[in-house]
Amino acid sequence: MTAQRCTCGFTEANADDETIVDHLLRVFTPDDDKGADGQVHLEGNRELACLCGFRAGTTGELDSHFLEMFFPADRVDPGGVEHKVIA
Ligand SMILES: [Zn+2]
Ligand SMILES: [Zn+2]
Repeated sequence: MTAQRCTCGFTEANADDETIVDHLLRVFTPDDDKGADGQVHLEGNRELACLCGFRAGTTGELDSHFLEMFFPADRVDPGGVEHKVIA
């Protein structure tokens, strides 16, 4: 498996157990966990279930759901840095 990199300088190779998805979620998850659709997206009390009602089969699927909801179209974080995955 090739380590993935982000245009901001993040690389999986240099991170402790942090994947590119973890990195993007850390950067883009808003303080209130609200997505572009105005709903709160957060893993609730039920495992692999989002508070919006989405049910995932795997952790990766849940992460993809969060990313879809939080990743802005321009991929620029609040600090003005672009995050784009370079495979
Ligand atoms: Zn959700
Ligand atoms: Zn980044």
